[in-house]
Amino acid sequence: MLSVQLFPEPAAWKSLSRRPFSDTPVAPVLVRKVFETVAAKGDDALRHYTLQFDNVSLGELRVSDKELSAAAAQISEELKSAIHTAAQNIRCFHEAQQLTEPVVETMPGVRCWRKSVPVDRVGCYVPGGSAPLFSTVLMLGIPAQIAGCTRRIVCTPPDRSGGVHPAILYAASIAGITDVFKVGGIQAIAAMSCGTATIPAVDKIFGPGNRYVTAAKQYAQQSGIAVDMPAGPSEVLVIADSSAVPAFVAADLLSQAEHGPDSQVMLLTDSGELLVAVQAELRQQLELLPRKDIALQALQGSRGVVLSDIDTCIAFSNVYAPEHLILAVEHPVRMSAGIRNAGSVFLGNYTCESAGDYASGTNHTLPTAGYARAYSGVSLESFTKKISFQSITPSGLELIGPVIETMASAEGLDAHKAAVRIRLSRIQSDKL
Ligand code: NAD
Repeated sequence: MLSVQLFPEPAAWKSLSRRPFSDTPVAPVLVRKVFETVAAKGDDALRHYTLQFDNVSLGELRVSDKELSAAAAQISEELKSAIHTAAQNIRCFHEAQQLTEPVVETMPGVRCWRKSVPVDRVGCYVPGGSAPLFSTVLMLGIPAQIAGCTRRIVCTPPDRSGGVHPAILYAASIAGITDVFKVGGIQAIAAMSCGTATIPAVDKIFGPGNRYVTAAKQYAQQSGIAVDMPAGPSEVLVIADSSAVPAFVAADLLSQAEHGPDSQVMLLTDSGELLVAVQAELRQQLELLPRKDIALQALQGSRGVVLSDIDTCIAFSNVYAPEHLILAVEHPVRMSAGIRNAGSVFLGNYTCESAGDYASGTNHTLPTAGYARAYSGVSLESFTKKISFQSITPSGLELIGPVIETMASAEGLDAHKAAVRIRLSRIQSDKL
């Protein structure tokens, strides 16, 4: 199961934090070639790469309105009701992020403020390679709708028959998505970056995906398209003490291990007995999983680490900077004060990580591979720009003008200084 490390020194923590796929990066030449071909050949290139990478021969790339409206009848009432409840919680949590900033008078007559303006056209990538992640449609579509983005499209890989899972389409209708396209992988990110006859170019690309999708988003960013963050193969780090329930901890570790063979799960504990009990639970619970083979591969690149106390576990976790962090410890709220780097945190034995994946309301599109050191997960803010405004009265310029003139002179930028001087002269002459 988990490979075990006993009391590693802090100097070793960085190397123990390496993600399994970091040794096999996606070849940049592949990503560039797909982008260049999509830019040159448009929809034909999308069909070509979908055949090559997904083994599907596509006709129409856009999901028709008829397919969209038929989706509701193809999924159970129970699933529809669950999607509605999750959507409501996600909407409620993200609507609460609509904050109006105050107008600030920095000096008398000098007023400054910021206004939130939606990104116009957004592209949401919804993973579908090995599981149709319809929850991602809600996580991206709902905040985009609340923010007021005018065009909100989804790209997702086609299933084997060339269709899109009805739950993805149902979630798209709930989340107010304007168009759904049956294209995944690098080619989808390329299409949303440069546009084709069918798929519009967007201003910002969102969404998680495997390492091909993540590499493509990084390439898009270098070419000047905004992206949310690197949200690659999922990971969870659990910090557990002897108050944790081994069966719960094992279930949480497996819930991320089943995402993909390149996912990583970590258990940090101050209790050797707990680690042994979790390993036994992992063995038992793994046998019951339909995605056992995938989870087993992920576990092979995963670790159980015993450290001297929970404070040291938190210090290790801050070096690892996990996408998901679970604190299954006696005083989770108190211990959470030490967290510096994490995408989303789950406190206590009953706060399972899958709650955040689906339905609690927080966003599940989160930074992976250590990017939580500097990036936040997707939020309402991700779908907006903040434009700053300022307004200065003549008396305000009399106060601030000399400051600007002095600084402009010191930088040798005389035209800057003159833009103030010409106005101050007018103010003086108006007073005469
Ligand atoms: P995916 O949609 O991300 O990737 C599937 C696509 O990959 C295919 O359509 C194909 O075009 C492309 N592809 C596959 N093999 C290829 C190859 N050899 N060369 C070029 N392209 C290739 O779906 P997935 O594979 O199921 O991965 C979903 C990922 O999303 C998982 O790694 C999961 O852990 C991650 N995830 C991350 C978050 C987050 O917030 N960070 C959330 C949910 C899921």
